[in-house]
Amino acid sequence: MPAYDPNNIFAKILRGELPCHKVYEDDRAFAFLDIMPRAPGHTLVLPKSAARNILDVDADDLGHVHKVAQKIAKAAMSVFDADGITIQQFNESAGGQVVFHLHVHVIPRKEGVSMKPPASEKEKPEVLSAHALKLAAALKDA
Ligand code: AMP
Repeated sequence: MPAYDPNNIFAKILRGELPCHKVYEDDRAFAFLDIMPRAPGHTLVLPKSAARNILDVDADDLGHVHKVAQKIAKAAMSVFDADGITIQQFNESAGGQVVFHLHVHVIPRKEGVSMKPPASEKEKPEVLSAHALKLAAALKDA
């Protein structure tokens, strides 16, 4: 497996070198909205540690990322009036991974509504801002 590349786009977001629509942060995890959401509220949860994917991440960091994903899933159910949540996490190109810093997708779902195809449409920044604010506020109260 290739080594972790510190210049991947999510590492740049974690270092504050690129913008994002942040929804949550603690000492070990960071979460922001996917810019091409497969459904409204589609969020990515990352460990702050340099991990390419499930194959090299520290097990405790992986556990923590999933705890945060659960918190976000619960908040997203009410914020986005969801009927369910899809969790996805891809590993290496063959596994569907495109950005090589581990991330868990948390995707709010509505009964009978299909997800958009991956990377099909960039959401408007004002829509992402509004969604991030609502989700961040719900997480503060959680
Ligand atoms: P994957 O590695 O297959 O999980 O896919 C990477 C995901 O990151 C896709 O859902 C993209 O829409 C998303 N993405 C790519 N660049 C950005 C970015 N700058 N900010 C937020 N999400 C992004």
